[in-house]
Amino acid sequence: ASQFGINEALEKLGIKFINEGTSTGIESFSSGEILDSYSPVDGKLIASVKMSAPEDYERVMQSATEAFKTFRLIPAPQRGEIVRQFGEKLRQNKEALGKLVSYEMGKSLQEGYGEVQEMIDICDFAVGLSRQLHGLTMHSERPGHRMYEQYHSLGIVGIISAFNFPVAVWSWNTALAWISGDVCIWKPSEKTPLCGIACQNIIAQVIKENNLPEGISCLINGDYTIGELMTSDVRIPLISATGSTRMGKIVAQAVAGRLGKSLLELGGNNAIIVTPDADIKMTVIGAVFGAVGTAGQRCTSTRRLIIHESIYDKVKEALVAAYKQLRIGNPLDENNHVGPLIDIHAVEMYAKALNRVVAEGGTIIVEGGVLSGEGYESGCYVKPAIAEAENAFEIVQHETFAPVLYLMKYSGEVDNAIEQQNGVAQGLSSAIMTNNLREAERFLSVTGSDCGIANVNIGTSGAEIGGAFGGEKETGGGRESGSDAWKIYMRRQTNTINYTTSLPLAQGIKFDL
Ligand code: NAD
Repeated sequence: ASQFGINEALEKLGIKFINEGTSTGIESFSSGEILDSYSPVDGKLIASVKMSAPEDYERVMQSATEAFKTFRLIPAPQRGEIVRQFGEKLRQNKEALGKLVSYEMGKSLQEGYGEVQEMIDICDFAVGLSRQLHGLTMHSERPGHRMYEQYHSLGIVGIISAFNFPVAVWSWNTALAWISGDVCIWKPSEKTPLCGIACQNIIAQVIKENNLPEGISCLINGDYTIGELMTSDVRIPLISATGSTRMGKIVAQAVAGRLGKSLLELGGNNAIIVTPDADIKMTVIGAVFGAVGTAGQRCTSTRRLIIHESIYDKVKEALVAAYKQLRIGNPLDENNHVGPLIDIHAVEMYAKALNRVVAEGGTIIVEGGVLSGEGYESGCYVKPAIAEAENAFEIVQHETFAPVLYLMKYSGEVDNAIEQQNGVAQGLSSAIMTNNLREAERFLSVTGSDCGIANVNIGTSGAEIGGAFGGEKETGGGRESGSDAWKIYMRRQTNTINYTTSLPLAQGIKFDL
């Protein structure tokens, strides 16, 4: 790691050997147990974090509650200025934070930098938005009345995030929450706690420089038990949770049980449909990047290719040839395409999926396997694999968070492919590769893809921050990032003002006194 400048990056980000896992933005403390963070890149201990105990959580809640009372009074464009300064700090720390993301999570360095760039982009987006938190004005049906709606700050936003986007997901939420006048409490994944500490150290500088109320950005660390304190806490009106569908079902019920709001960003099972009119070269680039990028650990990773039978063999051969070119190894080395999985548990799930697809009648056409030897000491490096499978296989119906791609055939019209693509429980991202206008429009129509994201001639993976991001069905239905996703971070109020001297009642009711 030292040859890639990790030690310098840790120093710049204020990461110590043992870090306090709880922070109110000004103060850091913690009385919980120690959580060690090991790198999947080389298996080494990076640093440790003291986890948050329930009493630490309570202190954070009090800070956040106090901070909200004053932060909501700052005009939205001035809150935008705070987010602008945060974006500037991220620019200054882009290299260091990108390296830490790559080293602690295992994605390629380029993807680590890309993730920090997404943070910068959402800040820029939020700065502009801070002058555009518009409500509508409607015509009242009553004479001499005016009716309009406005958006007010909501309160404390609880953010629970997954390991695979250890920094960007937090900023997608915070940038919008802060311009909305909300304050945030973040519980990062217990698999990437140092990314959380680093981000909190960056925003803490902005908080101090601007004399902002302590508690606008709070951090807690730990596993699901500390997350559960947030989901059951009536003081938190909105829980934004990113992670597995299993987690989402538990969190959704806990939050709904107290009639809170939840924004859920859960698992995907994303497919690309390849029609006879597809550009094969573009298809292969999109599919390979989608399937092996971040070692298949993106929520938008391509899991299934649904290929028309007339071009099936051609696409299959091109994919097998492309997979032979893939270089697997240290993600900090820019010559490698595929880095490690997050941990040994993820490697086990990957191996299990490959056994399972064969047991269900599938055929492996690009062999997988766990790599060992020099450079692979962490035990987390696996070979991207391809299997021919059926959509109905149980293993295909589930999201395996690893580089395993399933190939399937369809015959006849594009509707048959759309039926397969929609025939899973998840509904995050989808794509069609075609130059046929009728097929493309069909795919985007009401009877087409049932996913939150539907692309034409680009793959399933990744998304621009300007659009609303999220998915349907078991993906959870939440939307964050661009478009009008900001509305969930605010409360809407409808106002009617009577500027006459009489009080006409609704529905023509007479009530003479
Ligand atoms: P995970 O569900 O294991 O954990 C996610 C977070 O939830 C962690 O911080 C964890 O501590 C917390 N958590 C777990 N149980 C909880 C509970 N009962 N109460 C409160 N908090 C709880 O997921 P992971 O392995 O970190 O991430 C991978 C998953 O995340 C994949 O399924 C992936 O598709 C999904 N994901 C989705 C999106 C999206 O935007 N749709 C983005 C990134 C990742």
